[in-house]
Amino acid sequence: MPSSVIRKTMEGAHVAPHLVDYEKACADFAWSRATSQLAGLPGGKGLNIGYEAVDRHVAEGHADRVALRCISRDDSTRSVTYGELAELSDRFAAALTRLGIGAGDRVFTLLDRSPELYVTVLGTLKNTSVLSPLFPAFGPDPVCQRLRLGDARVLVTTEALYERKVAAQRAALPTLRHVVIVGRRGHALPGTVGFQELMDSSPGGFAIPATRPEDMALLHFTSGTTSAPKGAVHVHAAVVAHRVTAQYALDLHTEDVYWCTADPGWVTGMSYGIIAPLTLGVTTVVDEGEYDARRWYRILADEHVSVWYTAPTAIRMLMRATPRGGPYDLPRSYDLSSLRFIASVGEPLNPEAVWWGQEVLGLPIHDNWWQTETGCIVIANFAACDIRPGSMGRTLPGMEATVLARGEDGRAAVTDGRVTELRSPAVEGELALRPGWPSMFRGYLHDAERYDAAFADGWYLTGDVVRRDADGYFWFVGRADDVIKSAGHLVSPFEVESALMEHPAVAEAGVIGRPDEIAGNIIKAYVSLTPGRSADSALTRELIAFGRRRLGPAVAPREIAYDQHLPKTRSGKVMRRLLRARELGLPQGDTSTLEEREGPA
Ligand code: AMP
Repeated sequence: MPSSVIRKTMEGAHVAPHLVDYEKACADFAWSRATSQLAGLPGGKGLNIGYEAVDRHVAEGHADRVALRCISRDDSTRSVTYGELAELSDRFAAALTRLGIGAGDRVFTLLDRSPELYVTVLGTLKNTSVLSPLFPAFGPDPVCQRLRLGDARVLVTTEALYERKVAAQRAALPTLRHVVIVGRRGHALPGTVGFQELMDSSPGGFAIPATRPEDMALLHFTSGTTSAPKGAVHVHAAVVAHRVTAQYALDLHTEDVYWCTADPGWVTGMSYGIIAPLTLGVTTVVDEGEYDARRWYRILADEHVSVWYTAPTAIRMLMRATPRGGPYDLPRSYDLSSLRFIASVGEPLNPEAVWWGQEVLGLPIHDNWWQTETGCIVIANFAACDIRPGSMGRTLPGMEATVLARGEDGRAAVTDGRVTELRSPAVEGELALRPGWPSMFRGYLHDAERYDAAFADGWYLTGDVVRRDADGYFWFVGRADDVIKSAGHLVSPFEVESALMEHPAVAEAGVIGRPDEIAGNIIKAYVSLTPGRSADSALTRELIAFGRRRLGPAVAPREIAYDQHLPKTRSGKVMRRLLRARELGLPQGDTSTLEEREGPA
């Protein structure tokens, strides 16, 4: 039987870890020192993420270093140096200026992982416009809703994605002035301009305007439980946290070849797929292809990946392809000897997965925790510290976290503006963080009330339930609210319910996550039907197809169940908590707010 701790000794390690002594690193840490690691804009003109990510390296004489190793779907590869990336992002920034797009204007991307995505992100940031990435597997509803909520001025996308997801609703997006199409030359679609034409006609060369650290830089949409998606606002100063946390939690060094498998449509793919590695001058692998066990092992080997940041769903898929106990034919047929550090984020990482890494890849998986709002990793297992498999690890230097007592609604109890910290080990409560680090979100766009509601008594309330052990390791228990993590993607039950209710057969819907061995949860919808409609397999197929068309495969329900008497509160809200309890065969808890079914008409 394995012990319950993976002991770390760094003896013989050929790369000295950034964080060696956890207690000392915490005691010595100061954000002012982390800030001094950044170059800042020349002439004291402020702090700009785009400059830190590319131009800085060119100014320091590293224009020839490879920034991106792009692997296309057909396996052909292309390298982009820091010098090329600086030149291309300048060109894109200048093109934006010529289009009349300036400071604070929102530029959205709906793109697969490609060099053009990096150029758009970095050029937008250099232009002091705001970048908002969208996940290409979203359907038309989530895409257009976010474009609307975020006041999109520019959308950079591909012809296929535009035609499938945006064109039909373009008239309902009055702020959207420019749609830039990647990958097609000539014969532009009506109302669009070609990315390459734009780049070719751009004057090139670009002087980054003065940028204040508190200027808005990124807008990441995240899911709520009861209404529209929330646009979390991040500022240029976030780069301070991206850089130092990548050193501490991912142990990234300039010499590394690094692969973050998260899509840049989500916060991990932006903070740690684009910004953090580039600010450290690292070579980053960009794979346009989708998950495939053989392909992934091959990329790790062929690209000599040394640091790999991935997600529990992907690890569980690899575990299925290569179970513990051998014969390990698949990983052993590739040379994975360059790999020295593996980390994972986004959903609970089961202890078995940590041990699987140790046995099959020769390295344990280091779980870490954070969320869209925090902008950077907050809790982590570090390269030089013992791992307790199943734990998310300890807070990063410069961060403070606590566990708060919860009230009846499952969220932190706030009485007369005060919360109660639970200091005894192993007690469950809501995870709360003391705000103050540079990548902490600065607001929800156009929604000050929701932002204020996320804080109490000087703490930011994360919505996660955790335990903390006597040594400060945090253990994930579950969500305190109804949002669902499916294959690493945060899904709003409200968004799914709203879409389903637009189908003429659906009267009401309640959406929950059904536990799934690989994806963590899959989206399951309970629906009641309109009069005259009856439940049968044809309707199920129709509803699933309807959901996929509207919401896209990452968000759409995979299972439909019918119930003409969905449990509801007296105020008429479907009680997802009870649906979840039913699904899991658990006690249904307090039902005092349930509506009375047989009440007076
Ligand atoms: P997102 O804002 O989409 O990045 O999702 C953040 C949420 O993902 C957190 O609030 C958690 O519920 C979940 N999450 C992130 N990392 C972990 C982890 N290491 N273990 C368990 N849940 C996690």
